[in-house]
Amino acid sequence: MEVFISDIPDEGLHLEGEFPVTIFDLPPGDSIQPMGPVRYSADIYAFEEVVVLNGSLRSPFRLQCGTCLEFFDFDADFPDWTSEVDLEPGQRTIDLKEIIREDFLLGLPPNPRCDDRDDGHICPKAHFVTFAEDEDEEEPLEAGGPDIWGALDEFGKKPN
Ligand SMILES: [Zn+2]
Repeated sequence: MEVFISDIPDEGLHLEGEFPVTIFDLPPGDSIQPMGPVRYSADIYAFEEVVVLNGSLRSPFRLQCGTCLEFFDFDADFPDWTSEVDLEPGQRTIDLKEIIREDFLLGLPPNPRCDDRDDGHICPKAHFVTFAEDEDEEEPLEAGGPDIWGALDEFGKKPN
């Protein structure tokens, strides 16, 4: 979406709306899966050599956990978004869509983990990457772990 710099008044230009998820145009199988739509609200100010954008961005994604490789829902919410675009000599327009696309991709967590959320989810592979200092703590719940002795007792009672 091209915005003509000459259309930006001194007091700024307010634009808000949605872009379709297709603006991301990422290859299938990418570790970032945009789920769209892409909501934006922007106040745009033009200066001599730079265009400044202030506002908010929000869009749902699915990101791949760097530990267990499962995809999980991630709501990318940038309530204090700001961006600066350096202008080339003679540049007459900026591409709002492209600016927003890049700022989302730069703003997403570089090493997402599926338990970086507040819902109590625990990464199923988290114990593979915990460090030795955790060894003194309680054993994680293993299926049937403490009952193995009980099972052996039962075995011993069998008449054979
Ligand atoms: Zn995970």
